[in-house]
Amino acid sequence: MKPQATEEDVRGVCRKIESMGFRAHPMPGAQRTAVGITGNPGPLDPAEFEFLAGVAEAIPVSKPYKLVSREIKDEVSLIQVKPSDGPGPSFAVGGEELAIIAGPCAVESREQAFAAAERVKKAGAQFFRGGAFKPRTSPYSFQGLGEEGLKILAEVRRAFGLLIVTETIDPENCDLVERYADVLQIGARNMQNFSLLKRAGRSSKPVLLKRGLSATIDELLMAAEYILAEGNYNVILCERGVRTFADHTRNTLDLSVIPAVQRLSHLPILVDPIHGTGRRDKVIPLSRAAVAVGADGLIVEVHPDPDRARSDGYQSLFPDQFDSLMTEIAAIAGVIGRKVNPGVRN
Ligand code: PEP
Ligand code: MN
Repeated sequence: MKPQATEEDVRGVCRKIESMGFRAHPMPGAQRTAVGITGNPGPLDPAEFEFLAGVAEAIPVSKPYKLVSREIKDEVSLIQVKPSDGPGPSFAVGGEELAIIAGPCAVESREQAFAAAERVKKAGAQFFRGGAFKPRTSPYSFQGLGEEGLKILAEVRRAFGLLIVTETIDPENCDLVERYADVLQIGARNMQNFSLLKRAGRSSKPVLLKRGLSATIDELLMAAEYILAEGNYNVILCERGVRTFADHTRNTLDLSVIPAVQRLSHLPILVDPIHGTGRRDKVIPLSRAAVAVGADGLIVEVHPDPDRARSDGYQSLFPDQFDSLMTEIAAIAGVIGRKVNPGVRN
């Protein structure tokens, strides 16, 4: 649409698309609104739309993924995250200030979550992470506290003004998790759980979609497309490492995917240097690199007592290390025109 197009103009275009039996996807941007079309079995004639009020141009999208593509929207999408309850601050992912999500792998107790939250808030994180439902490789490993964990997360939100990111593991579970979460996390093992992607696409909550262990860039973008196609345009991508023959790390963090995704898609992308390396000593160097390469933020595991963690303790940072990480990435961010929330670090 033209920058000066009115809301009525946008509605007019949507009506036209729907009258043809297709689905309209109005996606507002800072400069102008793009309206995507899905459900059409083949190419449409641009002339059908070009002369409608407010239309700037009608562009056939050549990529298999349409709504996530830069062809439809050539500016980074700002994903607005608001607290589900209470007056806490909201935050836009994809802007100048990097999004920092930090907290334990899993919520283990109120004490553990509060101890982690206090430190990550002080260090400048805007989001708290912690799984209440954990998709574990072994059925005998700690599976999370379930709803009790979600309640603790809601308390963290109220007590610290942190936005909550937590994982949903299947479509039924999503009903419960979305009542508490501010961002729904879909984990690497679920990146192609298509019924979960569709369910998340019908949620009002933004989604953090992690790259699968062996997913190509097209597979990642197609997974995101499932969510947008259902009408949820608030998707944040995340690189978390892929499986290779390397044995000095748990996974190989593929930082080259960041500029590659940014060329193809308007969705913001974060980096998870924790699962991406699986080794605590490699997290700070790769966090610096992730910021340098242009990631829109980081998701990091921080535990008040990593040696006693019930999951992923060996890769979780000590709170003091997270302070150092924030100081170091702030220096890098300044060089490339980004910012890191200074928090109240000493
Ligand atoms: C996690 O964030 O704790 C997690 C399980 O991540 P991933 O899905 O990337 O393995
Ligand atoms: Mn983990």
